[in-house]
Amino acid sequence: MIPDRIRKLKPYKTETSRARVRLSSNELPYEIPRWLRERIKEEIARTPFERYPDPTAGELKKALADFFGVGEENLVLGNGSDEIIYYLSIVAGEGGVYIPVPTFPMYEISAEVLGRPKVTVMVDRNFDIDLQETLRRIEEIPCSLAYFSYPNNPTGNLFSRDKIASIRERGLFTVVDEAYYHYSGETFLGDALSRDDTVVLRTLSKIGMAGLRVGVLIAREDVAREIDKVRLPFNVTYPSQVIAKVMVTEGREFIEESVRKVVAERERVFHEMRNLEGVEVFPSAANFILFRTPYPADLVHSKILEKGVLIRDMSYLPGLDRCLRVSVGKPEENDAFLEALYRSIRDLG
Ligand code: PMP
Repeated sequence: MIPDRIRKLKPYKTETSRARVRLSSNELPYEIPRWLRERIKEEIARTPFERYPDPTAGELKKALADFFGVGEENLVLGNGSDEIIYYLSIVAGEGGVYIPVPTFPMYEISAEVLGRPKVTVMVDRNFDIDLQETLRRIEEIPCSLAYFSYPNNPTGNLFSRDKIASIRERGLFTVVDEAYYHYSGETFLGDALSRDDTVVLRTLSKIGMAGLRVGVLIAREDVAREIDKVRLPFNVTYPSQVIAKVMVTEGREFIEESVRKVVAERERVFHEMRNLEGVEVFPSAANFILFRTPYPADLVHSKILEKGVLIRDMSYLPGLDRCLRVSVGKPEENDAFLEALYRSIRDLG
């Protein structure tokens, strides 16, 4: 028998429409250079797929520890950070799960799957945490786990550090999801390495490796060890281990250069959008931009798609009526988006 809480679940939505320009999933828009692709080919060619991979992903961990500036013993790897979110919802505390919304839906989904009470609290007008309401609600329903997307997907802002700390002080195990860290430069890494109530999530998905499915949890050694106990033994596949290692060692410069270009483009696109009449655009510390128009988001979405550009309709999330999110792409992709947005708004007006 399948319990009601599972029957009531809504499947995670993603964009599958075909389009010339895809700016819907916050991926890195730049292709891997040919020489790096060749290096990956060489490494893959000598990988013994008939064998199980290293269950500890030791070599990849060593490379990632260096990449993130932490120790190998501080890492737990997941099949994407999505998987680690599940693990955290299993291991961290037994009370309710606090989630400021709107945010990345996997936090709620994992809590629902596991039947944990959920305390979702709307952010304020500036998309920051509503501390007063949060403290009131977590008093009502005792919570032992909190998720913060930092910067927040899809609003793009960074929550106040003080507010996160105040919530943590109430005894909540605090997950700071830094999926977009490379675009914000802001981190809770110091806390994750020194405290037993804070962990940081990172991912390779937003820096050119979404298809590999490698997520990374960073925590104090004793905390990481406990979380690693619930991990499925071979959760990071052999090809992913091999490719990710080449990328974060030999491909580091390519990644850093690509991130720099995306950040510069984010600022340009933001300013261009601000000049469009009828568009309300929100500042972003990530590799995407949230905006609102006076028209129904599904209409705007399909108008833009007709012009060959796929973005994401965010109006299904609480507080985001008429909102859409666009990932920052290559300059020519961003130009195609800006043109499509301009023409769509004009058509609808
Ligand atoms: N956290 C946040 C805030 C995200 O936006 C995403 C991807 N959309 C993830 C986690 C999941 O990333 P991954 O590809 O590592 O599962």
